Amino acid sequence: MTNSSDRQTRISYDDLTSLLARIFVRFGVSEANAAIVAANCAGCERDGSLSHGVFRMPGYVSSLRSGWVDGKAVAAVLDVSTAFIRVDARNGFAQPALSLAMPLAVEKASKFGAAVLAIKDSHHFSALWPDLEPLARNGFVALSMVSGLACVAPPGGRKAVMGTNPIAFATPVDGANPMIFDFATSSMSNGDLRIAAREGRGVPLGTGVDAEGEFTEDPSRILDGGALLPFGGHKGSALSLMVEVLASALTGGQFSSEVDFSAHSGAETPKTGQLVIVIDPRRGGNEVFASRVAQLMDVVRASGQTRLPSDRRYRTREAAERDGIPLNDETYQNLLSMTR
Ligand code: NDP
Repeated sequence: MTNSSDRQTRISYDDLTSLLARIFVRFGVSEANAAIVAANCAGCERDGSLSHGVFRMPGYVSSLRSGWVDGKAVAAVLDVSTAFIRVDARNGFAQPALSLAMPLAVEKASKFGAAVLAIKDSHHFSALWPDLEPLARNGFVALSMVSGLACVAPPGGRKAVMGTNPIAFATPVDGANPMIFDFATSSMSNGDLRIAAREGRGVPLGTGVDAEGEFTEDPSRILDGGALLPFGGHKGSALSLMVEVLASALTGGQFSSEVDFSAHSGAETPKTGQLVIVIDPRRGGNEVFASRVAQLMDVVRASGQTRLPSDRRYRTREAAERDGIPLNDETYQNLLSMTR
């Protein structure tokens, strides 16, 4: 680890993971769960998914301190049928629950061609791509979605009833890293909206509505009793609805509109559910699947798209693995102080 003259600390992924794990353990997370959530958070920072990297640590800590999430939870995995697994995360973080159930999902997808993993009562406070990348690296196609905290209204609505409800999709690509996209179904993330309000910047018309349901470019009016809107009008709204159906109704978790942590001052993590679908694309003799996807990527790039989803993230990871993960000194000192 080195301190450079521009007051940046560069830290390896392993060192950052250990540091974050110490923080989690200090605030009541079991050693096993801490290792998993810390690796997830450090991975987001390493790959430049900064909205879900160390920036989230104060939110994790204040949720743990509030008693809203159980850092020691051990999920219950229920082998429901040939290709269906239900998981009760028991009010714990989603990633340890996922990690416990994943070997069974992979076994089922390998044996039967597909597996559905329905997790309920879980707190997902991160990006979704880390949940899927290992699957795509092992040859599986995977899809995941998570419901969240109500801050998005449907078109025509004025009340926030849906979460920012992200969807992620991952596929193997022959001879290359998996292609993964992972984004919210809202026009903008809640975090970006808050930053715009703090900086006094306007947002594009269509981003959200005020408390009266009128379009506004003023982020403060969206935050003050208004709501974000889904991206793409009725199309994004339908996708968001699908996330509520699959990640909440199907899993047995709460809808975004039902999450109520008002009795837990400081709580920030959404307690809903997560759905993961794992498919073995080679089933039935389709051995050329990954090379067909590689061909498709070539066609798309040749048509002029210079950046495909996850390109930037892999480039950022490569640089971080070579040079260390950059953290500004203040952030690094804050993390150190959270261990004491
Ligand atoms: P973005 O709008 O930034 O889109 C991110 C995705 O689109 C990535 O796959 C990214 O690839 C790709 N991408 C971005 N720009 C381009 C471009 N110009 N050309 C091609 N591909 C592009 O994401 P959001 O702000 O909507 O979401 C950010 C994260 O927040 C996600 O990881 C999501 O899972 C997470 N989230 C989590 C929630 C939760 O409750 N847990 C709630 C809402 C969001 P690349 O990674 O390479 O940049």
